[in-house]
Amino acid sequence: MIVSSRFLVRSCNHTRNSSLCRLIRMWHKDFRGLTTVTSRRVFSGIQPTGSLHLGNYFGAVQKWVELQNLGGDTIFSIVDMHSITLPQDPNVLQNNVLKVTASLIACGIDPEKSVIFQQSKVSQHAELCWVLGCLTTMARLAHLPQFKEKSATLKEVPLGLYLYPVLQCADILLYRATEVPVGEDQVQHLQLAQHLAKAFNNRFGYTFPIPRAVVGDTNVCRVKSLRDPSKKMSKSDVDSKSRIDLCDSPEIILDKCQKALTDFQSAITFEPEHRAGVSNLISIHSLFTGQEPCNICKEYSDIDTGKYKLVVANVIQDYLKPIRERTEKLMADPLYLQEILEQGSRKARSMAEETWQDVRKRIGFSSQ
Ligand code: ATP
Ligand code: MG
Repeated sequence: MIVSSRFLVRSCNHTRNSSLCRLIRMWHKDFRGLTTVTSRRVFSGIQPTGSLHLGNYFGAVQKWVELQNLGGDTIFSIVDMHSITLPQDPNVLQNNVLKVTASLIACGIDPEKSVIFQQSKVSQHAELCWVLGCLTTMARLAHLPQFKEKSATLKEVPLGLYLYPVLQCADILLYRATEVPVGEDQVQHLQLAQHLAKAFNNRFGYTFPIPRAVVGDTNVCRVKSLRDPSKKMSKSDVDSKSRIDLCDSPEIILDKCQKALTDFQSAITFEPEHRAGVSNLISIHSLFTGQEPCNICKEYSDIDTGKYKLVVANVIQDYLKPIRERTEKLMADPLYLQEILEQGSRKARSMAEETWQDVRKRIGFSSQ
């Protein structure tokens, strides 16, 4: 794109000064920032609000690893600034930052190939958030489903909970990301990022590529709570039996599967609308083995839900064993994890600063 724009500008220099040439020159000027973004750049984040669970793994981290291994820039953030939108114990938060880092590495994120960093160590996230907040409206933020879900039980809603989708947009746009692998619960937030990238570009000239959400099959990729399958599995759910963490011991996995809410029918059928509990277990089984839900139902047609829960527990235990062992080993070396985050944050800061200086010029904060 850059090459053809330069070529067009050169061609224009040899012809009369028509309005078309003026347009081409303006277009070229606006697209100069693209030198850093013409290739694919992947960004995504995860909150240090607890241990990673199956939803995080299948909704996000598994795709992160696949995209990392395809090559190109991959940037993953431990988004601690997002996590304080709900109260956090400082000591627990600090430990969770390391725990999430260890889990990501254990799942296959390679610090040699990807940038892994802690969001609060890169101050430009907050600065760009303010700029983008001035381009959006309160009505637009109030409609976002995650805000509605998380604020539903609160008497007093913190401003941060309302604003965090804008911070999420800043996270993505700061790195001029082109692809954002997320779970299905984040799709509306990605639409806000697309809207804000367009709004900024229209007003100040081309600065941000329009980021694309990379979301798996929504039928199986929104892993539901084991205790209330009308809700998604979440780190911040107060009921720890609602989720299976990647580091859960085999005994805990078995216990959580056995206590998973199902109905009074004993057959193994996949009917997400009518039998959400057992269908969620089948979806989880399918995510681990790659088998289609209908084939799973055929294979286990002669056992009841009680016995089927043991089958699912077994599949999960086997798959998670190496991830749990790698995480435990990494957690025994906090200095190594801190060093990874330090190196990652240095790289992230330098990328973020480039975008931030460009933004400052475009909005009139600096003359250079
Ligand atoms: P919290 O409850 O604190 O919001 P969370 O479990 O929702 O935590 P996040 O850190 O908010 O996790 O999200 C990290 C990534 O995991 C996001 O891309 C999100 O879309 C994905 N994700 C989270 N929960 C699920 C789920 N149940 N199914 C699929 N993807 C999920
Ligand atoms: Mg979440």
